[in-house]
Amino acid sequence: LVSARIVGKTFQDFEALIEVDCDVMRGEVVCIIGPSGSGKTTFLRCINQLETYDKGSIWLEGELLGYRRVGEALQPLTEKEIARQRRKTGMVFQRFNLFPHLTALQNVTEGPIQVLKRRPAEAREQAMALLARVGLEAKAEAYPAELSGGQQQRVAIARALAMQPQLMLFDEPTSALDPELVGEVLQVMRDLAADGMTMIVVTHEMGFAREVSDRVIFMDKGRVVETGTAAELMSNPREERTRGFLKSVA
Ligand code: ATP
Repeated sequence: LVSARIVGKTFQDFEALIEVDCDVMRGEVVCIIGPSGSGKTTFLRCINQLETYDKGSIWLEGELLGYRRVGEALQPLTEKEIARQRRKTGMVFQRFNLFPHLTALQNVTEGPIQVLKRRPAEAREQAMALLARVGLEAKAEAYPAELSGGQQQRVAIARALAMQPQLMLFDEPTSALDPELVGEVLQVMRDLAADGMTMIVVTHEMGFAREVSDRVIFMDKGRVVETGTAAELMSNPREERTRGFLKSVA
C-alpha cells in the first residue's frame, strides 16, 4: 500500500530524513520507534503531505505522492491534487486537535459533509456508528472540553475514520495522555488493527508495538537503522544503536 524509497527531507541545512526506505502492505500494522528527534514524526508528515519530502519517492496505492513525472523531471502537484491524495490517509496527532466549538458528533461529521459532500443525515448515521465503535456513543453531544484526553483522542480517531482512509497514521497518540487513559486509546487501536486497518504508528508504547505490530522500524538520526518483526527487533536487535535505545526505554 505504501512504498517509500530513499526519502530525504532537509530543514534549512538539517537533514531530518536520510535515505528512508519503508514498505507497508495492506492490512499491516507498522510501528516506528526511536529516540526524540530521529525523524519519526517528519516521516509520517511526509506520507500525509503536511511536509514535502525533497528526495526519493513515496507511493501510496501505486500513486506517487506530491509530484508528477514530466519527462525526466518531477513537478510538484497542485494544492488541489495534494488534498485529493491526502484524503487517502487519516492522521491522529499527539494533541487531539478537535474543533473546540463543535460537539463530538459534529467533529466526526464535519469532514464527510464539507469535503465528501455527504448528506447530513447519512453523515450523522455513519458518525454515530463510528462513535459507538470507539465506545463514545453516549458522548455524541459533548464538546471536547467536556471530555477526558482519552475520550478526545477516541473522537479524533473516529473523525479520521469518517473520511474512510486507506491508511491510518498515528503520531504518538497516547503520549499526551494521563497514564490511566492510555489503555482505552490503545484498545481502540488494537480493535482497528484486528479489523484489518493498515496503520503506521509512531509510539513509545513498547508493549503495544510488541503485541500489535506486524513490523517495527527503528529510526535514529533521520535514518532507518533496523526493521523486523516486533519479536526479532525487540528481543534480538542486530544493531548496537537499537540495543542502546531499547535499554533506555525499558
Ligand atoms: P519526537 O519523538 O520528539 O517527536 P521525532 O523522531 O518525531 O521526535 P521529528 O519531529 O521528526 O522527530 O524531528 C526530526 C528533527 O527535525 C528534529 O531535530 C527537529 O528539530 C527537526 N525538525 C522537525 N520539523 C522541523 C521544522 N519545521 N523546521 C526545522 N526543523 C525541524
